[in-house]
Amino acid sequence: MLKLIFLGVNGSLQDTDSGNTSLLVTGKEGSLAVDLSCNLAAVVNAGVDAVILTHEHIDHVYGLPSLLHQMWIAGRGKALNIYVPQGLEQLADGLIHLFGLREKKNMFEIRLRTEPVFCVGTMKVTTFPTDHTEMSIGVVIEDGMEGSMGDGMEDTIEDVMKDVRSKLVYTCDTRPLRDIPSFMEGAQVLIHEASGLSKEEEALLRKGHSSGADAGKMARELGVDKLYLCHLPKGEEAKSQILREAKKVFGESFIPEVLGEIAVGGREGRVRTNLQRFVTNTDNDAIVKG
Ligand SMILES: [Zn+2]
Repeated sequence: MLKLIFLGVNGSLQDTDSGNTSLLVTGKEGSLAVDLSCNLAAVVNAGVDAVILTHEHIDHVYGLPSLLHQMWIAGRGKALNIYVPQGLEQLADGLIHLFGLREKKNMFEIRLRTEPVFCVGTMKVTTFPTDHTEMSIGVVIEDGMEGSMGDGMEDTIEDVMKDVRSKLVYTCDTRPLRDIPSFMEGAQVLIHEASGLSKEEEALLRKGHSSGADAGKMARELGVDKLYLCHLPKGEEAKSQILREAKKVFGESFIPEVLGEIAVGGREGRVRTNLQRFVTNTDNDAIVKG
């Protein structure tokens, strides 16, 4: 079962109660962060196994040196894998080099990696190119794929939960994607940017972004249970307008609460129907505002 925490939901401009969009995702085993900016304490405390940097824009990467520095001070020993799209290694390495982080005494091993598909604990991560102004990647994260389910009633809840596939898609910064690749299918949750309203479409497309309606359309096409909007503009009113626009297209649209925990899958997830009786209703209830 994936647990998802938004460390921030804003685009480039922060609010006092929300920094730039970045995620902390925890699987049955293992955890990872997608982009690094605000609320790094949560990433340090989780002891993440990996970090993914999606593209070179400052609001997605500026937290990297501070994260490494905090992990080092906190006494981290295990290596950290930093996954970047091909071509971003130099920028990531430059941020590390700028502060002499590799030279710190007893610094843990920092590994820059560019594999497009990889595993973190029990999670499988598949990256894909988005349609932004710069080369950028989105991620599909799946958990709970190991473990098998028997036929009888003697199966324990633990066994059942192992078999519930938990899957999310995060399309990062992007114009509306034209095609939905098959590896995105079956996700319970879509995380999609909504940088403005559809009346601003021309400017949004020029800047490589999507509207609330675009996000709603993608959620509908993908057939997810819930859509979480992110990369939102500054201010409550602007956010509310975008949420309203998304909800007109896809009712189960939400603006996530920063640092609230969201369970992906579970009760409303796509479990086999004969397993429903085992699944509690404590999961999958997103904490939302607005
Ligand atoms: Zn960007």
